Amino acid sequence: MAKTTARGNVEDDVGNGLVRYPKEAEARYREAGYWSGRTLPAELMSAAATHADRTALITPEGSWTYHDLFTASQRFAAGLLESTGLRPGDAVMFQMGNVAETVVSYLGCLLAGIRPVCTLPQHGVREIRVLAEHIGARGLITQADFGHGRLPDIARTLRADAVIQDIVVARGPADGLGAGYEDLLASGASASPATLPYRTGDPRQIAAFQLSGGTTGLPKIAPRLHEEYTYNSRAWAETLDWRPGTVILYPLPIMHNAGISVALQPALLSGATLVLAPSADIGTLLDLIEAHRPEALPLVPPALAIRLLEHPRSTSSDLSSLKDFIVGGQKLAEEVAGRLRDVLGITVRQKFGMAEGMFFVTPAHAAEEVRHHTVGEPLSPADEIRILRPGENTEVAPGEIGELCVRGPYTIRGYYRAEQHNAHAFTSDGFYRTGDLARRHTVAGSACYSIEGRIKDVINRGVEKIHAEEVEELILRHPDVSNAALVAMPDKVLGEKACVYLVLEPGATPPTVRTLGEFLLSKGLAKYKLPERVEVLPALPLSNVGKISKKALREDIEDKLGRESGTSG
Ligand code: AMP
Repeated sequence: MAKTTARGNVEDDVGNGLVRYPKEAEARYREAGYWSGRTLPAELMSAAATHADRTALITPEGSWTYHDLFTASQRFAAGLLESTGLRPGDAVMFQMGNVAETVVSYLGCLLAGIRPVCTLPQHGVREIRVLAEHIGARGLITQADFGHGRLPDIARTLRADAVIQDIVVARGPADGLGAGYEDLLASGASASPATLPYRTGDPRQIAAFQLSGGTTGLPKIAPRLHEEYTYNSRAWAETLDWRPGTVILYPLPIMHNAGISVALQPALLSGATLVLAPSADIGTLLDLIEAHRPEALPLVPPALAIRLLEHPRSTSSDLSSLKDFIVGGQKLAEEVAGRLRDVLGITVRQKFGMAEGMFFVTPAHAAEEVRHHTVGEPLSPADEIRILRPGENTEVAPGEIGELCVRGPYTIRGYYRAEQHNAHAFTSDGFYRTGDLARRHTVAGSACYSIEGRIKDVINRGVEKIHAEEVEELILRHPDVSNAALVAMPDKVLGEKACVYLVLEPGATPPTVRTLGEFLLSKGLAKYKLPERVEVLPALPLSNVGKISKKALREDIEDKLGRESGTSG
């Protein structure tokens, strides 16, 4: 059972399950100027005042100056406090797509001292419920016209079950479900911005919650604190040399940690212009590139790069504005990097990042060898990296592969309310064990890193993460299934997709991809997590320590796919 939400008090946050940075580290980060001693909304409001007349946001529906965007956000904040039961310190779930209302709602929550929980519109009712209960969230902001308009039903169910008390409905009728977005803007219009809670906010508190992990058992929630989250964004903007006039195009879900920390916040903190694409549809992206001439695409998953390469309009479109094309989220194949260069004249570099904090990026002018094969250097000079033997505390020999473990001024020191996870996800001296395998290289005397695989049980489907355990746990509820193991199968475009190996109950008919998918959707699972291939075995292979051997299953599906593509072509 979730504890009550902390209402605006630092010690409550700690009592409620926040693991703080050690005092010594906080002092060091402030003294070095990484942490500013100010809250994230205070920093954003300063940027808004400095750049008031510049364009902050462009979508296919319109454009907003800094003044307009932040005026709307302040009204939203005031309306939220006036017309709902939400109070500073409360947490609010988001089910919002890439529209301006999402940006206004996110900024408005920060200005109201309310903490956004960065869930996605793709999440199912089960995921929102589990995460809301874990955090103790009271509110939900939902987009009525997203997808096929299914989001208000999720909100309705969660309110009926008393999981959520306050709902805001954007882009559609509120229909007795909660407050309407436009009504909040109207009711907040007369409030004085001078009274908004962010003005007295404490920078040591939680600004927003980001997600990691699935929703089986104890969720993994990354509590992002005002100073470190601001620093993460500012350091990214500075490293990429964003400034007033820089135009950035972002096509992935904006509420994901990447959307917030490689696009929205760094763009706004540096006076730049964010072009928010409604989706990653390549035709729309080409239109936006030609219309707004962005310089930077700060995160292009390899799957998107491949679709761009294969789109019939790509070679005839004017892509000459794109000076900084940063591939990330998944391993980049040399062949894709080479085709981007040869076919579209695009120079790529790479980025690695995570909801827990840590970023790497290859320097813009590094040799091609470094840009194509490594994720480069840590974002901050204060980031500390160790490549440890998995499960141990000793470093591997130079150049060997080991688990990437990180600590620094914007990497969390513990998941929220998750002592059990924290006991093994962090070393005793605060390094986060990422579950990714990495190798350290030395190029021209400085260190850079390559990602060489992972030891965590996660499928990386075009950068959407599928946590195997979460899906397996639901599949095991199927009456015909006695055992299940979800593994990654290679996919040319998405990198990986989920394949499930099933052992059936005696005499049962094997479920198909479709029937199993319908079953999982009915349990409230997000669509992107559904298995895209079903294999049936009499028993699952075991490793020599008696655990299901996912390695053997991954090899099996790779073999099968190899044979099938051999016979088909
Ligand atoms: P998320 O927290 O959803 O942003 O996912 C972070 C995870 O994505 C990392 O722990 C990696 O497993 C994976 N990831 C992110 N960037 C890269 C990259 N450039 N190459 C390989 N894996 C990546």
